[in-house]
Amino acid sequence: MIAIDEEAEKKEILRHYRKLLRSSKPFLQAGDAKLIKKAFNTSNDAHKNMRRRSGEPYILHPLAVAQICVEEIGLGTTSIVSALLHDVVEDTDWEIEDINKEFGPKVALIIDGLTKIAGVFEYGSSQQAENFRKMLFTISEDLRVILIKLADRLHNMRTLQSMPRNKQLKIASETIYIYAPLAHRLGLYAIKSELEDLYLKYSNREMYDSIMNKISTTKAIRTRFINKFAKPIEDALHSSGYNFKIKGRPKSVFSIWNKMRKQDIPFEKVYDLFAIRIIVDAEPESEKAVCWQVYSIVTDFFKPNPDRLRDWISTPKANGYESLHTTVMGHSGQWVEVQIRTTRMDEIAEKGYAAHWKYKDNINKEESSLEQWIAKVRDMIEQKTSDTSDATALEFIDDFRSNLFAEEVYVFTPNGDLKILPQGASTLDFAFEIHTEIGSACIGAKVNQKLVPLNYKLKNGDQIEILTSSKQKPNKDWLGFVVTSKARSKIKDQLKTAKRDVAEDGKEILLRRMKNLKIHPTNENYHKLRQFFGLENQFDLYFKVGRGLISQNDLKRYNENKNTTNKAKRAAKISDAKTFEKEIKKVKGNERDMLLIGEDMDLVDYTLAKCCNPIPGDDVFGFVTVNEGIKVHRTACPNATELMSSHGHRVVKAKWTSQHEIAFLAGLMIQGTDRVGMISDISKVISQDLKVNMRSMSIDTDEGIFHGKIRLFVNDTLHLEKLITKIEAISGVEQVNRFD
Ligand code: MN
Repeated sequence: MIAIDEEAEKKEILRHYRKLLRSSKPFLQAGDAKLIKKAFNTSNDAHKNMRRRSGEPYILHPLAVAQICVEEIGLGTTSIVSALLHDVVEDTDWEIEDINKEFGPKVALIIDGLTKIAGVFEYGSSQQAENFRKMLFTISEDLRVILIKLADRLHNMRTLQSMPRNKQLKIASETIYIYAPLAHRLGLYAIKSELEDLYLKYSNREMYDSIMNKISTTKAIRTRFINKFAKPIEDALHSSGYNFKIKGRPKSVFSIWNKMRKQDIPFEKVYDLFAIRIIVDAEPESEKAVCWQVYSIVTDFFKPNPDRLRDWISTPKANGYESLHTTVMGHSGQWVEVQIRTTRMDEIAEKGYAAHWKYKDNINKEESSLEQWIAKVRDMIEQKTSDTSDATALEFIDDFRSNLFAEEVYVFTPNGDLKILPQGASTLDFAFEIHTEIGSACIGAKVNQKLVPLNYKLKNGDQIEILTSSKQKPNKDWLGFVVTSKARSKIKDQLKTAKRDVAEDGKEILLRRMKNLKIHPTNENYHKLRQFFGLENQFDLYFKVGRGLISQNDLKRYNENKNTTNKAKRAAKISDAKTFEKEIKKVKGNERDMLLIGEDMDLVDYTLAKCCNPIPGDDVFGFVTVNEGIKVHRTACPNATELMSSHGHRVVKAKWTSQHEIAFLAGLMIQGTDRVGMISDISKVISQDLKVNMRSMSIDTDEGIFHGKIRLFVNDTLHLEKLITKIEAISGVEQVNRFD
C-alpha cells in the first residue's frame, strides 16, 4: 500500500482552487466569489474519500473541468459553479432538489442535463438513442450543458492513460463519434482538435507517435520558411501602423493523418502542413476594412489563387467563425494558406462563439446563425419524438451527426430571403426546407431562370423557384441525393406510411392463405414462418406478402418443410457482451472474460471480419452480431469507431492465442516507379524468398508510376512486416502499405 500524504494533497487541491479563482477574477461580480467558494466546498465535501482511477483525490476532476470552462471556453460564474458540482448528483447522495435549494434553479437545470447525458452511451441501443435525444434537448434548453459536458470529456480524455484498455477504446470512440463533431459545430476549434488528436493517440498509438515525431523533426525547416515568408508582410504592416501577430501553426496530428489517409500519401507529401495566420487589432466598426487592407498588403507580395478566396467575414459560418482566407504562391513554388482575422475573431475561432454570444456582456446581438441552428435541432427532436423504435432512433443519431460537420451553401428564395443549407444540398433539400408539402410534390426547379432536376446541387448565390405537381410522390431514390436531416426524415416518414399500407394488405392476404393451407394464425406459427423466411419481425412478413415477395407457393414450401430444425440456434444464444462473459465463465472458470482466437471454437461461433481482415498480432476486439455470431475486428478497422461507440454493449474483449499455424489473408499496396522486371522481382520476393502464397495481384501503371495490389496469406503481423521490408528494398519500390 502507498502511504497518502494528506497534507500535501490538501495543498494541491487548494492550489488548483486558487488558480481557478485567479482565472475567473476578471469577470467576477459582487457575490460571485462567494458562490464559487460554496460550490467548491460542497463538491469537495461530497466527493470526500473518493478517488479517481489514477489515485488522485476526485475533487481535482471537477476543479479541472471548471478551469477548462473558464480558460478554454470562456464561460462565466454559473458555469463554474455547475462544473464544480457536475458529478455530485451522479456519484454522491446529493439530489437535484438539494442543488436547487442551495444553488438555485439555473444551476439545477444544468446539473440535471449533465446527469442525463452521463448515460448516453451506456445501455442498449434504444436506451442510448433516447438518452442522446435528451442530451440534444438540453442543448436547446441551455447551451452551457453541452459546453460543460465537452469540458468534462476533454479532461477525461486528457487523463485517459489510467483507464484499462477496453475503456480507453470505448471512450475514445465515443469522443470521435459525437463529441468532436459537436465541438466543431459549436465552433470550439481548439477543443475539437485536441479531442481528435487524443482519439488518434489512444486508437492508433504508432501512427500518432510517428506523425508527432515528424512534425517536431521538420520544425526548424518550417520555422525558417515561415520567417522568410512573413518578413516582407511584417515590414509593410509595421510601416502602416498596425498592431498584429503572425503565427504559422502546424495542422493538428489528426488532420494530417486524415489527409494521409484520404489521399493515400505519406507525411512528406502533405504539403499544406501549416497555415499562416495574421491576427490584427481593429476597432469594432473597422474590422472588415482592416482585414481587407491586410489582404491587399499580402497580395502585394504574393500572388493569390483566385479560386481559393473565402470571405467568412461578410457571411460568417453557422458556428460563428469569421475570417478571411486566401491561398497564395510562396517563394519556393508552394501554395500557402493565409488566414486574416482580428483579435476578436481569433478568440471566437479558438474558443467558440457560444460563450461570447450569450454568456458574456453583449447579449443584444441579433439572432445569430448559432441560434438558428439550435432552433433546427429543436425541430428535429420534435419531429422524432412520436416514433421510438430502435432503428429510427439510431437513424436519428446518424442523421444528426452528418449534420454536424457540414459546411454551408447560401441560397435565395424568389423573394430574396437567404436560406443556409449544408454543402451538397439539392433542389429537393431546398424544397423540404421551405415546406414538407412542397418537398413531397417537388418535380424540379428553376435556378437563376434555368430548369434543373431534383438532384441539382445548389451553389452559393443560387436563386431557386420550386416547381411542383400534385401527381408527384416521394420515392426511395430521393434519399440518394438529399443531405439535410429534415428532408431525409420527411421522405422516410412518407415512405414508411406507404410501406405500412402495403403491409396492411399483406396481413389480410397472409391470413387468407394460411387458412387455405390450414396453418392456424397462432403466435407460434407466425414465429416459425418468420424463421423460415429469415425475417426479423412481423411487419416485414406482412410487407413481403403484400409486395408479392412471398407467394402462395412459398407458403406451400414452408408447409412441407415445417419440421426442419433451426440451425441458427446456437449462435443466437449469445446476444451481447454480458451473456458472452457468462457463457465463457461457465466453461472456462472465473478468470476468463475474453475470447481467445484459435481456441474457443467449440464454445462460440466466431469469424474474422472481412472489412479489416485481422491477423495474429493485430489489436482486436469481438463484436456480437445479430445473426452471425461474433465477428473479430481490428481496433484500427474503419468500422470500429461506430461499432464501439454505438453498440458498446456488444463489444467483447478478444486476444490471439500464441500458437497458430493458420494463414491469414492480408492486402498490400505497392507504389513505385515502373521498370522492366518489376513484377517478376516482387513476385520472386513473395513466393520464393519468403514462401508466401499469393491469392491475387493486380497492377496498374500510369505514366511510369506503378500501383500494385496484392492479397496474400501470412501467419501474423511479424511475418507481414518482414515481407514489407523485403519488398521495400526492391529497386524502384517507394512505398508499401497494408490495406483492408
Ligand atoms: Mn465528470
